[in-house]
This record gives sequence, C-alpha cells and structure tokens, in this order.
Amino acid sequence: MNLLFDAPSPVVAGISGHDAGAPVRRVFCVGRNYAAHAREMGKDPDREPPFFFTKWAEAVVPSGSTIPYPQATEDYHWEIELVVLIGKSGIHIAADDARDYIAGYGVGLDMTRRDLQAQAKEMGRPWDTGKNVVQSAPLAPLHLVKDVGHIDKGRIALEVNGDLKQEGDIADLIWSIDEVIEHLSGLYRLEQGDLIYTGTPAGVGACKPGDRLIGRVEGLSDLDITIGPREA
Ligand code: MN
Repeated sequence: MNLLFDAPSPVVAGISGHDAGAPVRRVFCVGRNYAAHAREMGKDPDREPPFFFTKWAEAVVPSGSTIPYPQATEDYHWEIELVVLIGKSGIHIAADDARDYIAGYGVGLDMTRRDLQAQAKEMGRPWDTGKNVVQSAPLAPLHLVKDVGHIDKGRIALEVNGDLKQEGDIADLIWSIDEVIEHLSGLYRLEQGDLIYTGTPAGVGACKPGDRLIGRVEGLSDLDITIGPREA
C-alpha cells in the first residue's frame, strides 16, 4: 500500500568494529536497580520485584550528539546506565538462559525530567512525561557479545564537565541482567533490537545547557553527550 506520508527512518544503534548497525525496536528501562541510588531517591533498597518503564525508540541518539534541554522541566537529570541489546526473540526466559538472548552491551543515559517524575510519583500517575523525553536515551556504540563476552561486573561512571558525578560497579545491580530479562520477558515477548537500560548508580543530578557528559563502563566505548539550548 502507498503511504499517506513518509514513514520515519528506522533508529539504528552503531556497533563498534562492525559496519552493520542494530535497528532499535523498543526501549525498556529498569527503575531503582542500585542500592545507593534507591536510597538517594528515598526508598529502601530491598528486593521488591524489578519494575519497568519505556521510551520510544526515537529517544535513542548516538554518542557525539548535542541533545536539547527539553521543554517543561527545570530539573533535567542524568542517569548513567549499562544497556543490553536483545538479539533473539523470547518469552518466559529463565535467568539461567538469559545470556542466550543478549547480543551486546553499551553505555547509555536515561535522561529524566525529575520534577515531572516526582510529581507523577506523588500523584500516583504514570512516569511517561518524566521519562519518555525527546532524545533522552543517548547510546554509545554497542559491543557485541561475540567480541567482548558478557558484562556482569566492572566500573560504571559519569563525568560532567570533567568532574566525577556517578560511580558504581555493575556487580552491584540489585537485579542482575539475567534476572531482569527473566522478569521483563514475563511481561513482554522480547524481540531482536529491544534495548534494556538496566538502572543507574548513585549520584544523579541536574544538568544545564552547555554541560558535557562523559559516561563510561569498563570494557565498552565511552558515551560523549553535550546538553544544548532549551528546546524551542
Ligand atoms: Mn534510569
């Protein structure tokens, strides 16, 4: 059938060392998955089941991007996260089998309108407007499992204008990546090209236009993002 208007171009995540990129299907994010961050958000870091929220695929932008300071917030926060690329379709995946479904890993940011998220929490409303924000899921080039193996430990950190703001270790995830995949695949059939942002360590904070954010996870490519002027 002819199209009434142009379909948007697919969002493609770059793969380090490979020409072919990964078409991004959906973006899932895990809330409060490091104890120190749960505490800074005023919650006990107990093992309540993991919970999820989503972003549109178009929120994903590559390293090197200048992303807008979005409208409707005065408190736009950084959250550095390890990101998992799903490479195989699956439902009801047991944690022990989860690694078979992971194609690669990358460094991402889950940028958040914290004031809108806080208001939503207080009023018992969905988090969408706080979390699903224009260009709010920057992603460094992914590394394939066949090139770097699986990542279950290693330093994760964020520097803002050269100052260390966030630091943690992937080994400190409350819910491991394998367990996250078990839970998430009990809610949705996971598909090739799905991304999972796995949660942020302590040290979230507010950025401002002109800030430069450098995210790192040991063994992966750095993420380099600049905050642009307020969206107009
Ligand atoms: Mn997050």
